[in-house]
Amino acid sequence: MSSAVVVSSENLDGQQQSSSTPASPAAEKVNLLGMSRAQLEKFFEDIGEKKFRAGQVMKWIHQYFVTDFAEMTNISGKLRAKLEQICEIKAPEVVHRHYSKDGTRKWVFRVGEGAGSLVETVLIPAEDKTGLRKTLCISSQVGCALDCSFCSTGKQGFQRDLTPDEIIGQLWMANYSYMEEVPVAERERSVTNVVMMGMGEPLLNYDAVLSSMHIMLDDFAYGMSKRRVTLSTSGVVPKIDQLAKDIDVALAISLHAPNDELRNELVPINKKYPLAQLIAACQRYIAKDGNESARKHVTIEYVMLEGVNDQPEHAQQMIKLLKNLPSKINLIPFNPFPHAPYGRSSRNRIISFQKTLSDAGFVCTIRQTRGDDIDAACGQLVGQVADRTRRAEQWQKKVTQRQEILRTQG
Ligand code: SAH
Ligand code: SF4
Repeated sequence: MSSAVVVSSENLDGQQQSSSTPASPAAEKVNLLGMSRAQLEKFFEDIGEKKFRAGQVMKWIHQYFVTDFAEMTNISGKLRAKLEQICEIKAPEVVHRHYSKDGTRKWVFRVGEGAGSLVETVLIPAEDKTGLRKTLCISSQVGCALDCSFCSTGKQGFQRDLTPDEIIGQLWMANYSYMEEVPVAERERSVTNVVMMGMGEPLLNYDAVLSSMHIMLDDFAYGMSKRRVTLSTSGVVPKIDQLAKDIDVALAISLHAPNDELRNELVPINKKYPLAQLIAACQRYIAKDGNESARKHVTIEYVMLEGVNDQPEHAQQMIKLLKNLPSKINLIPFNPFPHAPYGRSSRNRIISFQKTLSDAGFVCTIRQTRGDDIDAACGQLVGQVADRTRRAEQWQKKVTQRQEILRTQG
């Protein structure tokens, strides 16, 4: 490590502790963390070096979690010194982290000044037939402009797009959190799956998200299987077509309502791209060439809101809507947040909704609500940390005012 900053964190028992995380040298240096292989190759050529250095450096960054050029032992001392001078490998600053007893891990990153510049990342472990899965839910924007009525991120408004460093930095940090104490030569990648389901609408930050997903799939970086990288969208139709041309990853659609009237209310982007257009785009996304693709089906996400979209007629409308779309449906129990205008559907209601869809031949699962103990739903932890930060800022302001009064009086 070239240097370190102290961050606040909580251990397994929820106790505060201090820990170190890699920090940055000088601000003007070029950050290599978010560069795709093509970009890194160009970078090395531009500084008069061979482009195969790109692959070497990528491995050090994304497979061995090394941020200090001095540790890159297959690179000459002269080049290492040059890199040290002009570039850096810098993940976003962790301002809060929580490792739950059930294995869930959460981080809040600061990506700018003030209480509004925070994003969150959640890691959820689960056992399945292929072994232990560690799924990381990554944010793509600070806030979100689309204002879905049941979403805490939407209520925070849109601040800005994340850069590729900040997007891939979330994956880097989650892997690094398991490797911190492990010698460099023995380090390995722990996160098995990525879902772009954190804060923000990934298709509205298209270029940065695309280049980050290329790094996820690259064998010189994370080498993830394309079926284990999922992009979730509320339905930015033209960008779904663009995505189909640019990369082969799994697609999830935040449907949440089976008719336009209700969807206009819950997911306002539906007014621009109504259901018929959205379903047609999903059909185009499905690969024509079969089994090897990540695009054999789309995942349909459906948040269960009590008395709003969970009635038997909604299940029947879903069956009609999805009948010509290879899809798997995931029912998500609503995660309440302060002042949310909805309640979570009862367990029985969710199970009977699932049964109707399963009986009609759909694969339909119910999302487990683990991680609730640390507010695992989109945007909610950030809401809490932002509140605390705002309170701390207000407190600081009061202290400064008080000092000013005392100074003028004295
Ligand atoms: N903007 C993208 C990805 C981020 S939202 C999208 O909308 O798909 C990720 C998922 O979390 C979406 O399916 C979203 O609808 C869901 N979600 C948002 N708020 C929620 C809440 N309070 N309870 C349960 N799921 C929620
Ligand atoms: Fe944005 Fe997705 Fe939340 Fe809708 S559900 S406001 S698109 S983050």
